[in-house]
Amino acid sequence: LNPLLEAQPTTIFTVMSALARQHEAINLGQGFPDTEGPHDMVQKAADALLDGQNQYAPLTGLPELRQAVAESNARFQGLNINPDSEVIVTSGATEALAASLMALLEPGDEVVLIEPLYDTYLPIIRQLGAEPRLVRLQQPDWTLPQDALAKAFSARTKAMVLNSPMNPTGKVFTRDELTFIASLLRHYNAYAVCDEVYEHLTFGAPHISLMTLPDMRERCIRIGSAGKSFSLTGWKVGYITAPAPLAGVIAKAHQNLVFATAPNLQRAVAFGLRKDTTYFATLAADMAHKRDILSEGLRSVGLEVLPCHGSYFVMADIAPLAAGKDDVAFAHQLTIEAGVATIPASAFYDSSNGTPPRHLLRFAFCKQEHILREAIARIAAWA
Ligand code: PMP
Ligand code: GLN
Repeated sequence: LNPLLEAQPTTIFTVMSALARQHEAINLGQGFPDTEGPHDMVQKAADALLDGQNQYAPLTGLPELRQAVAESNARFQGLNINPDSEVIVTSGATEALAASLMALLEPGDEVVLIEPLYDTYLPIIRQLGAEPRLVRLQQPDWTLPQDALAKAFSARTKAMVLNSPMNPTGKVFTRDELTFIASLLRHYNAYAVCDEVYEHLTFGAPHISLMTLPDMRERCIRIGSAGKSFSLTGWKVGYITAPAPLAGVIAKAHQNLVFATAPNLQRAVAFGLRKDTTYFATLAADMAHKRDILSEGLRSVGLEVLPCHGSYFVMADIAPLAAGKDDVAFAHQLTIEAGVATIPASAFYDSSNGTPPRHLLRFAFCKQEHILREAIARIAAWA
């Protein structure tokens, strides 16, 4: 059997969701909204099934969805994208990430990543025989240490993975930070896999795609997810925007992994991407409000909340309540005794890069307001 996969633990999201169910805890762990996405999209998907959208879709995606992805790139990022040669529809951003890394990496290549990081990047990179070079953001403000980042690059660097807006920190990279990253990519002639699934979930300064910076158009693979942009995480529809030569190779990986994605969902996502700007602004404003409710609540029970400018997630320092317990022990205790599930932040760090922080929990705020308030009330009653 494959030793890397054999040794890999079950994802923390599944572990904490199972614990939450077992103890009837409110699940602020796994990042999924607890309300339905837009009804008109669900209706479109249902109509498309009855309309006969039930056989294989084209390999790179339905033309109408590729067109909608290209239009969305133009509307929100000012990018001029060819829908026929530069867009690939995938089964979620998860598949998009795997296909992109497969397209880029050969054994011995190095990949620069920023910690804390989403849990699928490293196993795939290692499976491909490539070597991660990890750079840790500094707390409490999630500062990017530029010297360390520059040192992580070398002549063997093939790519960097950049997640902005970022899970689990809620960091949104600034233009200055992106400019610095772009200078390194240019200098080392490297690519960037840009995980932008939270592109529409920023709570202040808008998200900037690295792909829009000078010389980055040919180096960046930009990944989006209908799950996050439309609160439909179960649909697993993702999309890649990449320069044609790269997109052609990514399409081969996609061909080997899944070949095609459910056509009725693709039709509905094409419809969703064409929603007016108010839809996207409201999505972000609603989520910012939820962030505020949860953050204020966490502060009211004595936790220190770290800055969050985007995504579904905020990190909190548990020291005041944890009585010396580490994040994993405290997350279990909070689930079982207080009835609130979270994710211990050490799960987003790799032990190869030194001891992970043990004093942080990630809280998901993509939940209904009364659920967030109930979670805070439970923690207050328990603390
Ligand atoms: N990247 C990040 C940063 C995520 O948080 C997630 C999941 N929420 C994904 C990728 C995977 O997205 P999808 O559900 O579309 O596969
Ligand atoms: N992306 C979601 C999160 O970060 C979880 C996705 C999953 O469960 N695989 O919570």
